Amino acid sequence: MEEPRRLTMISMTGCDFCDNPTQELTEQRQYYMGYGNLHCSKCKDKAEESFLNYSKKHKWMGMYYFRNNLPKDHPLYNYRQSITVKRTSGDIETNWKLSVADLVYTKRGQIIIPCVNEETNIQKAIRVDELQEQNPNIDFDVVKSMFSNTLELNLGKQTKSANNRKA
Ligand SMILES: [Zn+2]
Repeated sequence: MEEPRRLTMISMTGCDFCDNPTQELTEQRQYYMGYGNLHCSKCKDKAEESFLNYSKKHKWMGMYYFRNNLPKDHPLYNYRQSITVKRTSGDIETNWKLSVADLVYTKRGQIIIPCVNEETNIQKAIRVDELQEQNPNIDFDVVKSMFSNTLELNLGKQTKSANNRKA
């Protein structure tokens, strides 16, 4: 497993997984905003495996990967999907979205999803159960099972509904 590194414009050549000083273009596998690995075409599978192992180790997923792993017809596959959030003040706001630059992570066995209010830019990391409560139109059981199955976590009650999405 390769640790992710900061993907800056001055370090965009060379493969992180082999010593082959290849002249071919390397691709980047972004783990989360600005961090990831570069790989040549030969090492694409290795890069994917490394990325997954890194995510498993840290029990989190970059938001891009998180969204991409949801079924294509799931509301959160679309990052423009409005999310209703209950503020600490008790106010209910409907103009929230997934925070695309963030990581979905776990805390005390709960999946935490960072969201952002598009108008005020205020961010809030929200427990998946709390999101489910405020957004009955979005199936968060699919989110939970995708997350725990992909990272091989046991987060308690799970549904099987996302297991066959690649079939
Ligand atoms: Zn390579």
